[in-house]
Amino acid sequence: MIPPTSSSTLAGWRLSQSYAKLPDGFHAEAEEYGFAEPKLLVFNHSLAEELGLRFEDAPKEQWAAWLSGQESPPGGGRLSMAYAGHQFGGFTMLGDGRAMLIGEQTDPDGGLWDIQLKGGGPTPFARRGDGLATLGPMLREYLISESMHALGIPTTRSLAVVTTGDQVFRQGIEPGAVLTRVARGHVRVGTMQYAAARQAPSDETDTGDLAHADQIVLMDYAIDRLQREITHVDAPEKYEAWIRHIIDSQAKLIAQWMSVGFIHGVMNTDNMSLSGETIDYGPCAFMDRYDSETVFSSIDTGGRYAYGQQPAVGGWNLTRLAEAMIPVLASTDHRPDEPEIEQAIETVNKLLGAYPDLYNKYFQQVFSRKLGFIRVDDDITKLIDDLLELMSDNELDMTNTFASLANGAPDAALSDWMSSWKKQLASNGIKIEDAIETMSHANPRVIPRNHLVEECLAAAVRGDMDPFNELLSQLQAPYDAPLEKYTAPSPKDAPPYQTFCGT
Ligand code: AMP
Ligand code: MG
Repeated sequence: MIPPTSSSTLAGWRLSQSYAKLPDGFHAEAEEYGFAEPKLLVFNHSLAEELGLRFEDAPKEQWAAWLSGQESPPGGGRLSMAYAGHQFGGFTMLGDGRAMLIGEQTDPDGGLWDIQLKGGGPTPFARRGDGLATLGPMLREYLISESMHALGIPTTRSLAVVTTGDQVFRQGIEPGAVLTRVARGHVRVGTMQYAAARQAPSDETDTGDLAHADQIVLMDYAIDRLQREITHVDAPEKYEAWIRHIIDSQAKLIAQWMSVGFIHGVMNTDNMSLSGETIDYGPCAFMDRYDSETVFSSIDTGGRYAYGQQPAVGGWNLTRLAEAMIPVLASTDHRPDEPEIEQAIETVNKLLGAYPDLYNKYFQQVFSRKLGFIRVDDDITKLIDDLLELMSDNELDMTNTFASLANGAPDAALSDWMSSWKKQLASNGIKIEDAIETMSHANPRVIPRNHLVEECLAAAVRGDMDPFNELLSQLQAPYDAPLEKYTAPSPKDAPPYQTFCGT
């Protein structure tokens, strides 16, 4: 994998095709697909700059052709990834049905970024899907992923949205669009499950034509991309270190979601990235009134992926990942006198056993900062638990409650709690001004509120991008003083908000 080094490439493209060099079973080429009239609608100039792309070096029409898959940029390809996944607990063979990796872009600092188009037409993994995407949901992913980034939460980014000029059939007829997604990597828990499952023929899965060695190639590739510092560690310690790292990064990621009321909505194992980035913005949404049972996704009728379930589901998914890696840990174990499989199972159980404590550690860290503390102890943990319980009992808006602590004017239901909080700050030797300073970077004032997101997407579909652009600019500075409109929760009597998958 030698990325091109010239900085004078067309518009700054420096694409390599490292994923394509993995064994054939891991990918397939997406067919060409012609759109009526691709037009560049949204372009992320600051992200482009980070990637070393030079927008001004090519006309808008050229960007529209590149970022809708009509033409390949220099060095570009059309690769769809194979993966499997536990969807709501059931195991299925999947793959990118409507996404294609056009390559890995080398940024000016030498970092590698997957550049993927979503909605560019059907791929060999499309099953019964049309391979397409619609404007509202692609703008929604753009908005929410950029909001997560501004909140300091690891996430895939959005480089552009191109409208295709085609109509797409969903509940009704909707304008087609393609999103350009940027990620440190797209290898998922489901990719590892796929590598393991295709070695074992069964009725449910495929024909079992990947080898054990292919799974090791995939793991080494992912480590090289995502955790280069352990590339030269000997196996099996290398793979153990990698599992430990993934468990740690997921525990931290989910704690960060919890701290802002983010509900992913479809935490299937194919939607959990080994890069530790939030991925796949389908039915996700932010909670307003604090309630750990909140679910927005129309298909999550059992509440499997409810707000309060996310830490546990993270652990369940990590167990599926570790399971898929046990044979590799066992086969690469050259330590003498140890029965390999038993040893590997014991190792992963130990690694997984650390997850609940890791999650709690990160949860307490992020929530302590939300209350102005810079360390964690049992009294502070109790303060956090009490506040969350009061918020839940009184149906308080999570974002506004935390934001209001700094100006001393939260809901009357919190007055006793406020006294305890101030006492606790004092006994920790923290001045209120210092607490407020800490909190000002931990409690966002603007989140993508559901009614505002819906309003701006409806306007965008009608051709008015002003509300989208205004909301986006507020979301990009979530800790600054917002316009009042952006902090108001939806009315209490509004119908329950519902989100949908695969739209
Ligand atoms: P998701 O729930 O968005 O993670 O999608 C689950 C699977 O369905 C993935 O393999 C997607 O690639 C695939 N998929 C979703 N929508 C479509 C579509 N319109 N056409 C083809 N495949 C799709
Ligand atoms: Mg997905």
